[in-house]
Amino acid sequence: MEICKYCQEKDAIKYSHIIPSFVYKWIKETAATGYMRNNHEPNLRQQDGPKAPLLCVDCEKLFSEVENSFKKDYFTKVANYQNRCPEIVNITPEIIICIYTIAWRVLANEYYFPIENDYTEEEIARFPSLLENMKQSIDRSDFSTYKTHIVPCTKDVLTRLKLPQIDWHFYERSAAAESRIWNNWERFIVFIKIPFSIIVFEIVPNNSDPWIGTQLEGNDCIALSKIGVVPSYVGALVNHVNDQFNATKNEVSEVQHKKILDDFRNAHPNSGSFKTRQKTW
Ligand SMILES: [Zn+2]
Repeated sequence: MEICKYCQEKDAIKYSHIIPSFVYKWIKETAATGYMRNNHEPNLRQQDGPKAPLLCVDCEKLFSEVENSFKKDYFTKVANYQNRCPEIVNITPEIIICIYTIAWRVLANEYYFPIENDYTEEEIARFPSLLENMKQSIDRSDFSTYKTHIVPCTKDVLTRLKLPQIDWHFYERSAAAESRIWNNWERFIVFIKIPFSIIVFEIVPNNSDPWIGTQLEGNDCIALSKIGVVPSYVGALVNHVNDQFNATKNEVSEVQHKKILDDFRNAHPNSGSFKTRQKTW
């Protein structure tokens, strides 16, 4: 039995979500096919996103409270096929804390359950204190240590930021999260991709990175028209994560590919994934 990595006290449940489960639920509900695929097992009809024994029941419950706020006050407004993303998106403390908890889960998962990464031993050795510091900010709702940036993925915003004009599926329907470190701690971030949003949580910020109009801490709203600049590495990460998705696409077996096509043929043309497929730059 694993111990909860957050409180370090109680037994962890077997399957905690890294990215909140409502994100995967939304992807399924708005899909023409009624299911989703993931990176590692492209031939399995993935239902629920990656999970790990990270949290106990109580910590799960604590996290789920801010997840509910994030879902209600941010996600359903931005990831919406019926109504356009509002020009002004209000930001609450719970929205920010929810992102902190996702970033914590990503880092904790990479530390406790590593699969493959390029971290050096020296880098890994600092993870426990980084996780502890993040936990303290979460527990105290302290917004003085970290910087979180959010980019709602509307055509206007993405075009202004000159982000890669790739398949809209990436921006509107994909979910993924990974941490990324630069040499000599020049910068250390968690890149979180959820439908209709790109989120960057700076664990170790690089203060010369240009961000305009994206930071959540200290702001009670994000105005789409004020989002002006993101560092160039964001576009590079978009391409990198999208290439990973595409690489797994080619591994889909012919049988599975035929199933997906059949599902699309039978799907309602009002489904979200149909709308995204039809979207052009
Ligand atoms: Zn716990």
